Amino acid sequence: MPQFQTSPGMRDILPPDADRWRRFVAAFADVAAAAGYAALATPLMEDAGVFAGVGEATDIVQKEMYRFTDNGGRDVALRPEFTAGVCRSFAQQRPVTPWKVWLAGSNFRYEKPQRGRYRQFDQIDLEVLGSDDPFVDAEVVAVGWRFFQQLGLQQVTLLINSLGEPAERAAFNDALRDYFTANIDALSEDSRATLARNPLRVLDSKRREDAPVIAGAPTIADFYGEESAAHFASVLAGLDRLGIPYTVSPRLVRGLDYYVRTTFEFAGGTLDSAQNALGGGGRYDGLVEALGGPATPGIGFAIGVDRTLIACDDEGVFPADPLELDVFVVDTTGGLEALAISEELRAAGLRVDRAFDNRSMKSQMKAADRSGARFAVIVGSDELAAGTAVVRPMRDGGDQSVVARADLAAALQS
Ligand code: AMP
Repeated sequence: MPQFQTSPGMRDILPPDADRWRRFVAAFADVAAAAGYAALATPLMEDAGVFAGVGEATDIVQKEMYRFTDNGGRDVALRPEFTAGVCRSFAQQRPVTPWKVWLAGSNFRYEKPQRGRYRQFDQIDLEVLGSDDPFVDAEVVAVGWRFFQQLGLQQVTLLINSLGEPAERAAFNDALRDYFTANIDALSEDSRATLARNPLRVLDSKRREDAPVIAGAPTIADFYGEESAAHFASVLAGLDRLGIPYTVSPRLVRGLDYYVRTTFEFAGGTLDSAQNALGGGGRYDGLVEALGGPATPGIGFAIGVDRTLIACDDEGVFPADPLELDVFVVDTTGGLEALAISEELRAAGLRVDRAFDNRSMKSQMKAADRSGARFAVIVGSDELAAGTAVVRPMRDGGDQSVVARADLAAALQS
């Protein structure tokens, strides 16, 4: 028989971790809803062209997309990120603006798997389309910030930058190309290849040998026009007013091509510097238009579930909890009573499990113990005949009692 394993970079998320993921998303849903963001779900798969705006020059589009021709001959891809699909959805559905939405789910990138980097990975995501008010930027960052606080993370830092308007960004890109070309001998081989494709991304290099050249590179701030300087100043004023600490980081460019103006990153305090981005985002004012919609500004962020949970482990917060049961039913009369009692108690709102396979009393009590349930409800032939059950506290001590079957749910609830 063939023995199958998960494909590289794909994982089973087992109990109790899968439940921790669910609670993680639920915690984000609460924070997002409190700020007026509604849940949105877009398809896992889109026409591959939807993702072109992410950057024809980026690895994500060039090398990492799960792209194939479907049975109908369509060129499709699994989403490598959320934003392009959200913009496609906006262009198609034309919702009322500002459109404030959040999403959660899997993305796919054919990357080299390692700790905190997988081929299928989950993100939570928040987007606002239809406003370029700088206080939208401040709100979006604030929602991310509050989420990390809600999780209990203390060591997250916020890095922020503005990439300017598209023309300013383009002028900056040209200046970088000239500068790096003049210093090409001092660049790593990887960065030389990056330079040929996208000079801006050389700033993203984490290689030590590139650091001195990068340190002397032009900065985007020298290219801001009046409007983008004012916009960025207002974003920062908003964060100041909220008391959210940040570091202006003029080298922050992020991996996706569509960003203009505000860009930011949430860095974890406990992770390796090469992998310390828990999440990040920014403005993508031209993206909806590029996907055939009306000119619409937009801003958003995505936070990686895996890396944020690693940060939670490191800081000892938001732990995985095993499933907590209220009751474990032990039935030595054949199992039919356990079936009925379990359903009755579940209908009354209790968490209930039971033993199967008509095991001995001893073996069922062992299972009750292992389950961690607060109470065992025990039915033997005497109880069955008398219409009662024994309720035995399993965790908190105390005496067992005999309870009439009709009163069982009420007794356990109190
Ligand atoms: P990005 O969409 O590249 O801006 O990434 C946003 C966040 O998603 C990152 O900061 C990571 O936390 C997470 N992330 C990105 N790629 C991966 C991956 N291959 N595996 C796990 N997490 C990832």
